[in-house]
Amino acid sequence: MRAALELARAAAQAGEVPVGAIIVKDGAIVGQGRNAPVAQGDPTAHAEVLALRDAAARLGNYRLDDCTLYVTLEPCTMCSGAMLHARLGRVVYGAAEPRTGAAGSVLDVFALPQINHHTQVTRGVLAGECAALMSDFFRTRRAEQRAAQPHPLKDTALRHADSTFGGFAQPQWRSDLPALAGLRLAVVDEGPHDAPLTWLCLHGSPSWGQLFQPMLPGWLQAGHRVMVPDLPGFGRSDQPKKEKAHSAAWHVQVLRELVLALDLRSIVLVGHDDGARLGLAVAQAEPARFCGAWLMNAWPAGPAPDACVQWFAQAARKPSWPVGRAMHEVGEEAGAQPQAWNLPFSQPGHRAALQAWPRVQAEMPPLPMALLAQWSQQQRLWVQGGEHDALMPAPAWRQAWLQALPQLPPAQLRLSPCGHWVPLCAAGMVADAVEYFRP
Ligand SMILES: [Zn+2]
Repeated sequence: MRAALELARAAAQAGEVPVGAIIVKDGAIVGQGRNAPVAQGDPTAHAEVLALRDAAARLGNYRLDDCTLYVTLEPCTMCSGAMLHARLGRVVYGAAEPRTGAAGSVLDVFALPQINHHTQVTRGVLAGECAALMSDFFRTRRAEQRAAQPHPLKDTALRHADSTFGGFAQPQWRSDLPALAGLRLAVVDEGPHDAPLTWLCLHGSPSWGQLFQPMLPGWLQAGHRVMVPDLPGFGRSDQPKKEKAHSAAWHVQVLRELVLALDLRSIVLVGHDDGARLGLAVAQAEPARFCGAWLMNAWPAGPAPDACVQWFAQAARKPSWPVGRAMHEVGEEAGAQPQAWNLPFSQPGHRAALQAWPRVQAEMPPLPMALLAQWSQQQRLWVQGGEHDALMPAPAWRQAWLQALPQLPPAQLRLSPCGHWVPLCAAGMVADAVEYFRP
């Protein structure tokens, strides 16, 4: 059966339904076959039929009385009939096939005394392994089909050509979340799905997933999973044409549906600016899925500093607001790649998210202070600011956090020698974060 499983795997590699069969006579393999209907353009090219032909040709005999056929999946009516025609001595199969199996599942050709004189049947040998091979194959194929499906552009949205963006990791495209209503969302998803931690990185306006690029290698090296969506309207995701499409509740709902669709657990939220507020709203709705947060350049509560309010108001008002340059002005670290920040808004009409953002900020739900206090107590919270953050000057930022969370220990209130774009300078902190948030 192990040899048949090898053939089944080869079939899967070739894009065929993974079924393999071998025929054994006197302890030696005398015939083999793997499913090949697609490659051969032949609906009868089942593994068992090919193995029977192979054995009969090699033995120079179309009667296979003293042979045993091992096959990974319960044979269908055609193959069972072929085995009876060959007067096969014995058939051994792995997984049952509840829809087409003709050796006991749907019907049992071998149990009909009128037509079967010899063939013995043995069922369920390595059944788990054989069935897993089938289900893996169909799961992978479904995922591939989903990924290959076109994501048609709605006439209420705009999209950049995928080739516009170089550099950052290739995203997966999703348009299947109900809240997206057909918009295409870019999601970078790297690292193993059974990783001990998943770092959910959420940007604010006007940046996008690229903000977290310097941090990815450290997490991946630790064997963790990293999830970086571009909010709708930002980065590589589709952009609604109308600013009215944006609301805080909508962004929270999209992110929540993403977390549920991917069944993410053991999440550490890495939230930058308003991405922190959106992510915390998701965490409050799904607390069992989150285990901590690393919040960067985020304002906790109360009115944001004037500089911050004015910066976003200008971004909303001025149709030619220079995104890359404006980002550089509030954090030197953003100066290295102004093009990356300009790209999403580089064409006319692509600025609905910027126009909507001051209103979205005003709609943001308050931070879940009880949850933050709990994480702080469990040593699962870092609040990180930039010493030169021109939007949230460090002393005011610090005071606001201590007012919102008076019990925040000094070690959890961290300052970096950079401006408003701390994630761009945070590559060197990832190893410490992996240690600190270790489950
Ligand atoms: Zn068959």
